[in-house]
Amino acid sequence: MSRARKPDWLKSRPPSGQEFAGIRETLREHDLHTVCEEANCPNLGECWSGRSGPDGSDGRGGTATFMLMGDRCSRACNFCDVQTGGMGALDPDEPENVADAVAEIGLDYVVLTSVDRDDLPDQGAGHFAETIREIKARHPGILVEVLIPDFQGEPKLVRKIIDAEPDVIAHNVETVERLQFPVRDRRAGYEQSLSVLEQVERESDIYTKTSIMLGHGEYDHEVYQTLADLRERGVDIVTLGQYLRPSRDHLEVRRYDHPDKYETWRRVAEEELGFLYCASGPMVRSSYKAGELFVDAVLREGKSVAAARADARRTEPRQTES
Ligand code: SF4
Repeated sequence: MSRARKPDWLKSRPPSGQEFAGIRETLREHDLHTVCEEANCPNLGECWSGRSGPDGSDGRGGTATFMLMGDRCSRACNFCDVQTGGMGALDPDEPENVADAVAEIGLDYVVLTSVDRDDLPDQGAGHFAETIREIKARHPGILVEVLIPDFQGEPKLVRKIIDAEPDVIAHNVETVERLQFPVRDRRAGYEQSLSVLEQVERESDIYTKTSIMLGHGEYDHEVYQTLADLRERGVDIVTLGQYLRPSRDHLEVRRYDHPDKYETWRRVAEEELGFLYCASGPMVRSSYKAGELFVDAVLREGKSVAAARADARRTEPRQTES
């Protein structure tokens, strides 16, 4: 299959402004990592600068997704720009440092993720849970979304996260079943990821969320099947975004789907399959603001799903046709 040419609609805004500088300074002060930086997220400029939506309309300050347990992962997924191997010891001050940074940045919705730590006895589940608890204790009323590893599908480790009572538990299935490897590390798996999400659904009222990258050569019927399998496991929120190649050492992009195609998937996900919310667009990433606004509107403002969707939709990136 020939290499796909990058289309014009994939534009990202360069980082700039006081908000951006302020967040970067706070992160350095507290020796914290973000997936925004480590995975070279194209939306960093927008998120950190506090601008979102076509005219920066939501008025929310800058945000960042904290990456716990260091900047080196025990796995090597072929789409991911995070460094592999050479993991260090966990920083016992990290839960407190994150809670401090949350206060300094002034976040009312915080997203936490982490590298995978297959090298640790509990794969870092205890440390992750402690960070959630520290934030919740220090910032009553804050909403906490966590994007967790699969913990090798270990129910007792997933349970540690559930017991810390975040508001949203996300775990990314990343791609369709046929392409799990080579897209993801061999220790990841389709059924394993679905079982993590299903356990959260079964054992709690916490919202579940997942993300699918398009552009690895998946067929439409496979994307549909993945969405249907996720709904069957009770998953509430799904995001779909375009895979972008971080470097020549990573998988090639097989196809760039047009924004209209993403809109079709959004309608299928919400109107046909019944996801509470779907953010779908080339620049959409799993911890992109739109999903946050939906959850915020439902949980904090008690809005209906329809009203919350409308709120969130206003902040989604608009793909400008050149
Ligand atoms: S598990 Fe895979 S996707 Fe996640 S940080 Fe590690 S290499 Fe990246």
